[in-house]
Amino acid sequence: MTTVSLNEDVSAGLTRGEQLHAFATVLFPICRSITGNGVRETLRILAEKIPIEIKEVPSGTQVFDWVVPQEWNITEAYIKDSTGKRVIDFANSNLHVLNYSTPIHRQVTLEELRSHLHYLEDHPDWIPYKTSYYKEDWGFCVTYNQYKALTDPVYEVCIASTLSKGSLTYAEYFIPGDTQEEVLISTHTCHPSLANDNLSGIAVVSAIADTLRKRKNRYSYRFIFIPGTIGAITWLAQNEQRVRHIKFGIVASLLGDRGSFTYKRSRRANTEIDLIAAYVLKQRSEHNKIIDFFPYGYDERQFCSPGFNLAVGNLSRTPFGQYPEYHTSNDNLELITAASLEESYEVYLQILTMLDQNVCYVNTNPKCEPQLGKRGLYSLRGGTNDTKAFQMALLWTLNLASGENSLFDIAQRSHMDFEVIREAAFQLKGVGLLTEEKT
Ligand code: ZN
Repeated sequence: MTTVSLNEDVSAGLTRGEQLHAFATVLFPICRSITGNGVRETLRILAEKIPIEIKEVPSGTQVFDWVVPQEWNITEAYIKDSTGKRVIDFANSNLHVLNYSTPIHRQVTLEELRSHLHYLEDHPDWIPYKTSYYKEDWGFCVTYNQYKALTDPVYEVCIASTLSKGSLTYAEYFIPGDTQEEVLISTHTCHPSLANDNLSGIAVVSAIADTLRKRKNRYSYRFIFIPGTIGAITWLAQNEQRVRHIKFGIVASLLGDRGSFTYKRSRRANTEIDLIAAYVLKQRSEHNKIIDFFPYGYDERQFCSPGFNLAVGNLSRTPFGQYPEYHTSNDNLELITAASLEESYEVYLQILTMLDQNVCYVNTNPKCEPQLGKRGLYSLRGGTNDTKAFQMALLWTLNLASGENSLFDIAQRSHMDFEVIREAAFQLKGVGLLTEEKT
């Protein structure tokens, strides 16, 4: 039976969490967006870890009600004061430019400049992260202190960006399992220098993919690294025929902060992944939260749109908008910790492992109880459980293994831990008393 070894494949000297943090550190400086070379560079680095397939979807491609936008790239941007000094410089932080900003290079009055500045009065040293993907605009994001220091009557502004026909870039990685049924794991790749909001997801998901590809799985696993919203819409539009294979999915985001976990149920609310994710989170800590689906947030919005209605939830630590550093320059490499990243990896893997092991068995000796003693099962202890409890687990499993109840169903009905039921099933299968229902 597969057990999760949390330290497998950890290279010399670094814990898995430290490796994940180091990976986020490498990706941090890159200026990503929903399209462009920053995404390509990010995926090129990711491809050194796992053999992803990189896809390009041309600008102008119709994807349901949307159109793949023009590709955005940027080389530099600044605001110069009357002495020629760069008072705001994209080289210091890629958050300084309104993401998807149109190009500009001219003198502007302070009044005009101010109408294109974004800042946070409540956090005077933080730069906000702002985007304008679908409305052509130019702008800068600055700290409130920088904003207050702008007093010259005229400034030179330069945003050396291009918006032109190109493509939307995403990556996919598929691990075939024993069945064609798939588990979809999706994470977004479109945020620039923000650590928790998207780099934590990319790091944790890549580690999960790397672990799952090295073990034998019942389900097939599909990982997609896509820009938020337009990426999920594009992927669904281009893969509509494959969607029928998706049995479950999780949208991974915000996995590096110190907060507890929040699982947002799928729109269908009571699917196997919803129940198992809730079980794992509650078993781990009473501080973890389970919340109902709502049609906002990350890409579960698209996967759970009524035309797809997939069993896809979202598992994050502190939810979006609920930590002060969200979408600011303080969502940085100090906000995310190696320990949190590692724990997120463990939680994901625990949920996925449980789903993978949640088989519906059939009792091969259903007429009266089989004699456990003659099969050597009567005095077995299951793991750390005492003999008597383990006997009950054997009896419950035999009694409910009718082909319709999964091991999780049996654990729920018997009020026993999933792990104990799973161990009982493993022992019963070993002596031929259970057989796997072939799906
Ligand atoms: Zn975000």
